[in-house]
Amino acid sequence: MDATTESQYQFEIKKLNREIRRLNKINELLRVVNEQVSRTQIFIQKGSNQRVFYIKQLLRSSPYIQILTDSKLQTVMASDVYYQYEKDFDYDEIRSGVPLSSALKNILSVEQLNDFMEKCRLVLNGAQIEPYVVRTYHNNEKYDFQITIQLMMQNDEVIGLNILFVETTTIIDALERAKQADMAKGKFLANMSHEIRTPMNAIVGMSEFILRDCESPKARSYASMIRSSAKTLISIINDILDFSKIESGKMEIIKSYYKFSSMMNDVVILLRSRIHEKPINIIVDADPTIPERQYGDEVRIKQILINLLSNAVKFTHTGSITIKVNPDVNKYEGNYHLIFSVTDTGIGIKESEIKNIFNTFVQVDTKRNRTVQGTGLGLPITRQLVHMMGGEIKVYSKYGKGSTFTFDIETKSDRLTPIGNLKFDQDNLGNVEIFKASFTAPDASILIVDDNDLNLQVAIGLLVPYKSKVDSATSGADAMIKFSRKRYDLVFMDHMMPVMDGVETTSMLRKMPFGESTPVVALTANALKGADEEYRNLGFQDFLSKPIDPYELEKILLNNLPRNLVVKGDQQADELFDSHTDSDSSADKDSSKGISTSSELIDSKLGLRYSMGKPEFYKKMLGIFASGNHLKEIDELLNEKNWVDYQIKVHALKGIAMTIGAVELSELAKSLEQSVKSGNTDYVLEHHHELRELYQKVVDLINSGGVKIS
Ligand code: ADP
Repeated sequence: MDATTESQYQFEIKKLNREIRRLNKINELLRVVNEQVSRTQIFIQKGSNQRVFYIKQLLRSSPYIQILTDSKLQTVMASDVYYQYEKDFDYDEIRSGVPLSSALKNILSVEQLNDFMEKCRLVLNGAQIEPYVVRTYHNNEKYDFQITIQLMMQNDEVIGLNILFVETTTIIDALERAKQADMAKGKFLANMSHEIRTPMNAIVGMSEFILRDCESPKARSYASMIRSSAKTLISIINDILDFSKIESGKMEIIKSYYKFSSMMNDVVILLRSRIHEKPINIIVDADPTIPERQYGDEVRIKQILINLLSNAVKFTHTGSITIKVNPDVNKYEGNYHLIFSVTDTGIGIKESEIKNIFNTFVQVDTKRNRTVQGTGLGLPITRQLVHMMGGEIKVYSKYGKGSTFTFDIETKSDRLTPIGNLKFDQDNLGNVEIFKASFTAPDASILIVDDNDLNLQVAIGLLVPYKSKVDSATSGADAMIKFSRKRYDLVFMDHMMPVMDGVETTSMLRKMPFGESTPVVALTANALKGADEEYRNLGFQDFLSKPIDPYELEKILLNNLPRNLVVKGDQQADELFDSHTDSDSSADKDSSKGISTSSELIDSKLGLRYSMGKPEFYKKMLGIFASGNHLKEIDELLNEKNWVDYQIKVHALKGIAMTIGAVELSELAKSLEQSVKSGNTDYVLEHHHELRELYQKVVDLINSGGVKIS
């Protein structure tokens, strides 16, 4: 080997050694990395095992039933509590995956399970379901569970559900017990108020007797104080009764069809009697397109309006009270709202006090209002009633200028016949003019059918100016006998009569000789505008509302009597009327001036209007009313729970009370009639005694000469 070759070898060996050293270093590095990786692996393994362990621990110690599922709703894991309720599956089965619906089959009923599975599917699809409560029975034990269903996501992917059943049985039981205790308290309050009312009425009645019979000014002044305090107490008790009913959830909204204009009419009449002598104008502005037939709780709507109107009267000395009614913007589509407002020009409410007036027992501005009676419960009750009818109540007021209360209620109408322009003009009941008939019909024969004596007398009296031959019948059968004996030119038929009502009687008359051609006019205490069609469909030619308005009667006579029997321009008609009612005819010349009533029980102006403005006729009607046996009959029907006839009789009382101007009594009879109609006989049982008491007071007032004719 020469020298050159050797140095070349040397060089190669060095290179190899260098390479070996480099490889060794890399090897070492790899080893370190390897070691590092396997250490990390061990660490990761240990960590995730630990995490699974933690989750398991969490589930085990969970006091609730908790189930985790995959995205196909197969179980993945469940808390220990779950296995206490569900013995069909063990830990391994649940871990290896059981359909969720099977896993819960012993905990939920079939219906609940179907609903629950539907909710789970919704949550998987991204819906949010609020926790909800179910009541289930397990081994004859009752359980309430609050169920929460949560979605589990990982890296934007749905991996399953987290389901939680929290047992709330004890909480719900405690809640129910508390509710029951509260209801018992409410019931006690209601019963007590009820019991207190009866003796209170006796106190009012007795003090009224003292005021009537006793001459000593001192005794009279004491009695007057007793009466006014007792009245205040009664109104407080009535409010408490309503309030406790609302609180205990016993206040119900009972809906039925009613006539809007009739409801407004009742409210305005009552408002008039409250205003009494105060110089306050009433303005009614109801949108004429409002449908006449409305569906709602007429009694409670009236209560709201009357509460607001009573306040308006209380806090207004002069000016006006305006009632406005409008539909909401959607007009009459499906369920819609009617917006009412009551505006007065009274004392107003301070801005700082407005927020308080809907709170219970609050009376604001007490210094200024110290003479005004009230409970501070009226507005809270009103607000609750409005809420129960799906509306809100608001108040706008300017201190010293007046207030406006607006509220809306949900309603609906199926027929859209509009109310038209409602007229409640002031003159309506102002000076009552003596009615003068504009024609006579001396050759006409007229039959009046009504089971009520007062109604008959009113109708006969109202027909006197026409000089016709008038017969009366007190039942359907009686009408048929009279009809078979004589040919009548016109029949007035009461609609609601016991045994055979007006519709049945009319259809029987139609089958008799001349029955087809004789006009029959229904007499009804119900109908108002738009009822023509209804009555025509029932077989009548026309209808006349009770109390009979003399002017309306004249229209009906003109429209229905044969033309050839009508004699125009007979000035003697009224004289004949006067002799018929055995009156001193001079008493009639001055219409309403001679009559004054010392009580709000009877609105004598109204009664006088229904008596053609003739005091003697009115006096006669009052006498007939007071001597009637209406209440006894109604009482008996109540005792027998004969609701059909009870309804007929209170309906009749509603009409005859209005005829003599006993507005409150008529209203009360109406609310009882409506309650029977809507099946709420509990209301009747609770309130019938009020009818009895009010009726007695009206009769006492008449008998004592309280409605004076000078
Ligand atoms: P009350 O039975 O005492 O009238 P409410 O709850 O009906 O109770 O009314 C509460 C208070 O609100 C009244 O006492 C009165 O101070 C005030 N208030 C209500 N309506 C009117 C109104 N139209 N004008 C002035 N103040 C009113």
